Amino acid sequence: MKVSHIEHLGIAVKSLETAIPYWEKMLGSKCYNIEEVPEQKVKTAFFKVGQTKIELLESTSPEGSIGKFIEKRGEGVHHVAFAVDGLEENLAECADNGIQLIDKAPRGGAEGLSIAFLHPKSTGGVLTELCEDKNKK
Ligand code: ZN
Repeated sequence: MKVSHIEHLGIAVKSLETAIPYWEKMLGSKCYNIEEVPEQKVKTAFFKVGQTKIELLESTSPEGSIGKFIEKRGEGVHHVAFAVDGLEENLAECADNGIQLIDKAPRGGAEGLSIAFLHPKSTGGVLTELCEDKNKK
């Protein structure tokens, strides 16, 4: 694997409206982007912490993965996202190493990134997202 840095931490929240003011105070920076990702049934809000971001995730449907997560486990850290070079190659390498993939091929995520999730069963219980910013190249 070629991980360059932690791209973002995904945090499940019940309400962006409530969570955003807390995080703005906590981080001392303004939320710079709010974006809905309908395929994932979430609304996201982003903050910058150095080159890493905090991604708040509010469910737009109880059927979505964030809705289910909050119902089961409550609010809190949901996933960690690593920035990689060559998402396809890294996914293939994970599969070769017996890591279960949730996404067998990259798909579109928030902020124009290509993303894919690895199954927490294979990653020590940590829901892991790999992402690549193809616009940077
Ligand atoms: Zn994410």
